[in-house]
Amino acid sequence: MINICNKINCCGCNACVQICPQKCIIMEEDYEGFLYPKIELQKCINCRLCEKVCPVLNRFSSSTVLDSYACYTYNEYIQEKSSSGGIIYEISKYVLEKKGIVCGACFDENWEVFHSCVDNVEDSVKFRGSKYVQSKIGDVYSHVKDYLKEGKYVLFIGTPCQVSGLNHFLLQKYENLITIDIICHSVPSPKVWRYYLAEISRYNSVTNVQFRDKTNGWKNYSIKVNSDSKVLLHEGKNKNLYMRGFLEDLYTRPSCSDCPARNYTSGSDFTIGDFWGCEKYYSIAQFKKGCSIVLINTVNGKNLFINMKEKFYSVQIPYEQVEPYGLHKPLTSSSKPHYNREFFYKNIEVAKSIRFLIFRCIIVLELKRKMKTVMDKCYKYFNNGE
Ligand SMILES: Cc1cc2nc3c(=O)[nH]c(=O)nc-3n(C[C@H](O)[C@H](O)[C@H](O)COP(=O)(O)OP(=O)(O)OC[C@H]3O[C@@H](n4cnc5c(N)ncnc54)[C@H](O)[C@@H]3O)c2cc1C
Repeated sequence: MINICNKINCCGCNACVQICPQKCIIMEEDYEGFLYPKIELQKCINCRLCEKVCPVLNRFSSSTVLDSYACYTYNEYIQEKSSSGGIIYEISKYVLEKKGIVCGACFDENWEVFHSCVDNVEDSVKFRGSKYVQSKIGDVYSHVKDYLKEGKYVLFIGTPCQVSGLNHFLLQKYENLITIDIICHSVPSPKVWRYYLAEISRYNSVTNVQFRDKTNGWKNYSIKVNSDSKVLLHEGKNKNLYMRGFLEDLYTRPSCSDCPARNYTSGSDFTIGDFWGCEKYYSIAQFKKGCSIVLINTVNGKNLFINMKEKFYSVQIPYEQVEPYGLHKPLTSSSKPHYNREFFYKNIEVAKSIRFLIFRCIIVLELKRKMKTVMDKCYKYFNNGE
């Protein structure tokens, strides 16, 4: 029976649920909005497979980056619609053209995020773009396993903990599997996203969501929500409260503060993220719509990259040059929960507005804290002459 000593360590990858031969584990959403396994004890036969596949209880050792590249697709439209350089789309297309399968994160009809598999390029478009919400894995690992056994070429894209979960779940290596983990700051709560979207979309049915709209450029990206041609929201990442709460870890999954797959321990073939800072080396004109950093971690990954290299622009760069540019903190260290996280969740059900609650936690309370520090210093100065 799965025994993750502390709930805060569970990353919600669903490997335990999918491996259970008795189907006695289900995922349940807690009050923070994250999924956790719940076991029906009377059905459990104590086979311990759930423990064996858990990426938190079992961790891979760190891999060494074999090569690093700055890359972007030549297709400007794809570049515009992707989060960074559109490289994941190009790799997906390559795999699909070889009659393979691609699994990634997409929205459902309620704009919740979940993982699914596709077998053609048209359908893979729904994976494009980062969704800043934890995605639900469902039974995708089992599907991946079935495809691999059929001998199909499979590409799986996810957060490092999801890739680690898949690699543990499979219990063996498959030459026909390619995995990409995205560089991951942390994953925000699906419940907070649900509340936020309901508040901003009031009475309008949402028809499109983009977390990385590039109208104002790749670096000044915005979150954009549409109801048909009506724009319900279009706000820069530094102004938008949902993005600020996410980037400041106000409603991040607890396990992200001790990420079980950081430091290249997911077992992925590629690690891909935004190459912030690339203009230090290359002309910004080239990268204005986005540039990805592609880290190759395995020989399998290296072979695939060599085979498809001419499909996009790439320039090899020494890893030491990449490292200092914010690349990057999330690769090697975990996120730190915001100090008002507890206050936020205590008030989430009573708050009249989720936006105001976020504003209160990251702006009002922060100002109060700063004011208090200044007042304390003044008090000390006037009383002790310090
Ligand atoms: C929650 C989150 C946090 C991130 N934090 C960072 C960071 O701190 N630093 C950094 O450099 N990059 C980060 N990224 C990655 C970055 O935003 C881009 O996804 C990456 O650069 C790939 O860009 P692309 O243009 O090649 O692909 P895109 O076309 O943008 O494709 C993105 C791929 O990511 C997958 N994906 C999207 N949303 C999710 C999700 N919620 N869960 C799992 N998989 C998802 C999709 O399946 C898709 O295949 C983060 C992404 C997410 C989802």
